[in-house]
Parts: sequence; structure tokens; C-alpha cells
Amino acid sequence: MTSLDRPHLYIGGEWVSSSSPATIAVENPATEEVLAHVPEGTEADVDRAVAAARAAFPAWAVSSERAAVLDRLHSSLSARAAEIARVVGLELGTPLKVAKAVQAGLPLTVLRSYADLALPGPETIGNSTVVREPIGVVGAITPWNYPLHQVVAKVAAAMAAGCTVVLKPSELTPLVAFLLVDAAAEAGVPAGVLNVVTGTGPVVGAAIAGHPDVDMVSFTGSTATGRAITHAAADRIAKVALELGGKSANIILSDADVTRAVKVGVGNAFLNSGQTCTAWTRMLVHRSLYDEAVALAAKTAGGYTVGDPFDESTRLGPLVSGAQLSRVRGFIERASARLVAGGLDVPLPPKGHFVAPTVFADVDPDSELAQEEIFGPVLSIIPFGDDDEAVAIANNSKYGLAGGVWGSEERALSVARRMRTGQVDINGGAFNPRAPFGGYKQSGVGRELGEHGLAEFQQVKAIQR
Ligand code: NAD
Repeated sequence: MTSLDRPHLYIGGEWVSSSSPATIAVENPATEEVLAHVPEGTEADVDRAVAAARAAFPAWAVSSERAAVLDRLHSSLSARAAEIARVVGLELGTPLKVAKAVQAGLPLTVLRSYADLALPGPETIGNSTVVREPIGVVGAITPWNYPLHQVVAKVAAAMAAGCTVVLKPSELTPLVAFLLVDAAAEAGVPAGVLNVVTGTGPVVGAAIAGHPDVDMVSFTGSTATGRAITHAAADRIAKVALELGGKSANIILSDADVTRAVKVGVGNAFLNSGQTCTAWTRMLVHRSLYDEAVALAAKTAGGYTVGDPFDESTRLGPLVSGAQLSRVRGFIERASARLVAGGLDVPLPPKGHFVAPTVFADVDPDSELAQEEIFGPVLSIIPFGDDDEAVAIANNSKYGLAGGVWGSEERALSVARRMRTGQVDINGGAFNPRAPFGGYKQSGVGRELGEHGLAEFQQVKAIQR
């Protein structure tokens, strides 16, 4: 038993026991100690949660209180901002500064945006009135890397649209989702609108994805799991929205501010220890700037302090788990490119799942390093000769989630338009939490955030007169 233990599931507005006494131990990845236990939910728990969500749906779908409820939820969650940063620091190992700004700050911004979003009124097309209606009961399945943001991006949009939700957070980082439930209970979210069943992917996740009474599955996680969920939903033709992996390119054109482009690019690649789906893990640099960029990237990476997430000077925390550590170390071990920073021989804290910030230069665009999502602090630098070659290398990927371009505005814009990805930042353009977020190709289906994110949870109905 620990003080962070959460022994119950949240179903139909009540804290209830799982049908099984089994629990999942949540580990602190910086110390490898057990932090807390949560229920290892079952298929029967999912049945109960879906029934509660179904029962709550008719009233919530037409409720005029939704914006007010989301507003109160925002206030209750905001009051927990410091606790959110602390819990994510403990269960994921995000350094405190990033935990406060991103892990706690971003979900609050997104929740605010959905509380403020005016629902679009009916549209007239000829003799038709086109109305939007909530899709129904939503199953939300989320990963561990931005554990509250990914939950809120789904739950807030679904609730704003009038859907009810059964949420399964990642078994590696389930604790912060309970803070959302605490806030929902305090804010008076009606019973059954938000239900949470913790547990493993193959049991609870699969039960949600295959449940006959779940109208839509909204998933963020790996492409392999996204494929399994799509198969599970196909039998009943349930809608799926998928936010999957990425291998994004950061293109530094010949007329770029190379110093800024490299510094921001390295920071982006290593954010959250590289466990970011949009991370610019491939740095593509014009040959005229290449040697300078490689030296600067190596120096920047070498300057990162690795260690205790709760030490103010730490820039890079651990990876989430021992399994992720072995995976990432495997990519570094197999790499045949030129190592210019980090690697496997750098001294690291004796406990915890740490990897040194690592940079490879002269990476072959077709190699494993450049093609596979590593999900660790590993940056690949690749040279190119002209803009066409840069675009070709950037698009040589099964993924298409994000990207960056640096150079004169018009030229950068033209390159950005040719990249097959869901978002591109030009010269460090800031993340916009109301802009549509999602992927081309195997990076996903559908969009999250803002109005586009809301629309995913709605059906459209045409009424003719
Ligand atoms: P994962 O696919 O292993 O797990 C994600 C969630 O799915 C977890 O809750 C897990 O329990 C559940 N799950 C696992 N197997 C399942 C199954 N058979 N049926 C139903 N649910 C199942 O991914 P992860 O390791 O938690 O997260 C890392 C991956 O997520 C990376 O590939 C990353 O790129 C991706 N990701 C994408 C985005 C995005 O927005 N595009 C954001 C964050 C992470």
C-alpha cells in the first residue's frame, strides 16, 4: 500500500470495486520503486461502465448545461495543477518545469477551449437543414507520454459534443487520470458521463474496442495497437479516430537561421525524453550548413542534464519503463551511422530508465534509425542538396504526423505544403491548441483539438423539407 494508491474504478458517478481483486503496480521510472496500485479491470467492469455511459447518454446529448459543466470542470482541474505536475513527474519522470508547463498546462488550455467553444448551429444546404448530433458512447484509450493531455483532448471534446465516455488510461501512467475524475466529481459532471476503467490493453482496451454498445473508439498510441483497434471495431462498423506514431522531419533550408533551427530542433526532438509522437527525430540539413549544424546539435545535446525529474536543473528525465529502455538502447546499438553525441557509454544515474541524449550524423534515410519511431532521445541528422531532395527525404516515411521547416518565409511555406503531414511549423511557429492535430498515412485517422476535434464526435443529419 502507498499513499498514491487508487483502489477503485469510477463508474456511473461512483467509486466502485473491480470484479477482480487483481491490481497493477505503477512504477516510478526514475527510482524503479513501486509508486502505487490501481485496479486491473476486467471485461465485466467494461460492461458495467458502457451500460452507465449508455444510460447517461440521452440526457447529456441534449443538455444545455454542457458548457457550464466543462467550465466547472476546468476550475476544479486548475486547482489541481501543482498536483498534476507532481503526479506526472512521479509516474512518467517528466522534469518538473516541463511537467508544469506542458503536462499540466496543456490539458487545462485544451479543456478551457472546449468550455468556450460555441457549438455550430444548423447549416442550410438547398432544401436541407443539416444538424450535428453526438455520436453516442465513446471508448477512449490513451497512452503514457502526455497522460493527461491525451485524456483531456478526447474527454473534453466528446463531452462538449454531447457524448458519454468510458476511458481507459495507460497502465503505465494511470494516476493522473484519477485527478481528472476527482475534479469531475467535484464539478458535478452528471453520473455516467465520464467513467474510468483502469487495466491492461489486451483486456480492458480490447473489451472497449470490441464492445457492441460503444459507438466510437478514440485511440492514441502505437500504430500496431491502432491497427488492432480498427480490426476490433470493423465488425460492427464503429467509427475509430486514431492518433498514432510519427517520424517527423525538421528541414533546415540553405537560407535558414541555422543556430536557432538546430537549437529549437534538438529541444523538440528531446522533449519529454523524446517520448513525443510529433518529435522532429530526423533533422534534414542543406549541405552548405551541414557541418555547422552537426557540431551545434552535438554541443546542444551534450549540454543537457540527465537525472532526477524533481531537480530544477534536470532537462532530461528517464524513459517510462524498463521495456522502453531496452527498445531504445537496441536502436542505438544497431545503428551504423556516425555517433556525435551520447550513445551507450555515457555515465548515467545507477537507478532509473535513463538514456543519454544521442545524436547520429550521416544517417541513411532508408535505415532503421531514420524509418522507425524510436521514442527516446535519439536524433538522426541527414544531409540534402536541394529543396526537392529535402521534400523527398521528408516524405520517405510510413508516417506523416508533423514537421518543421526553416528558411525564408515563402520558400519554407512552399516546402511545408509539399510535406505529407498533418502539421508543419515554419521557423518555430508555436503549437496551437485550437488547430487540428492528427496524421497523414500511418500516423492516424481523424483530428483532435478545436472545432475539428469536436466534429469527430458528431454525426451530421440532413433534414429535407
Ligand atoms: P500502446 O499502443 O502500446 O498503448 C496505448 C494504449 O492502448 C494503452 O492504454 C494500452 O493499454 C492500450 N492497448 C494496448 N493494446 C491494446 C489492444 N490490443 N486493444 C486495445 N487497447 C490496447 O502505445 P504506448 O506505448 O502507450 O504509447 C506510445 C505510442 O503512442 C507511440 O508509438 C507514439 O507515437 C504514440 N503516440 C501518438 C500520439 C499521437 O497523437 N499521434 C500521441 C502520443 C503517443
